[in-house]
Amino acid sequence: MPWCESCERFYAPPTLSAGGDCPAGHHVVDPDGPSTLTQSTATPREEEPEPKVPWHFWVLLVSAVVYLGWRAVEGIIWVVT
Ligand SMILES: [Zn+2]
Repeated sequence: MPWCESCERFYAPPTLSAGGDCPAGHHVVDPDGPSTLTQSTATPREEEPEPKVPWHFWVLLVSAVVYLGWRAVEGIIWVVT
């Protein structure tokens, strides 16, 4: 809610002029103020909710697990024989 210090009262955004001035003519808010700023920051947050893990990370992870598993089996065979 925009607050006019000179009038010492709150104004609903529709009662302010397009330039962000109160009915008495004091400048209260900037036209490109916080309301548009919060909108512009909220929109990209909806488009990308989380940094998604790329598919090749899982390919690398699975191949690493398979490789290490195979090396473990190989090591057990080498120890047993
Ligand atoms: Zn005022």
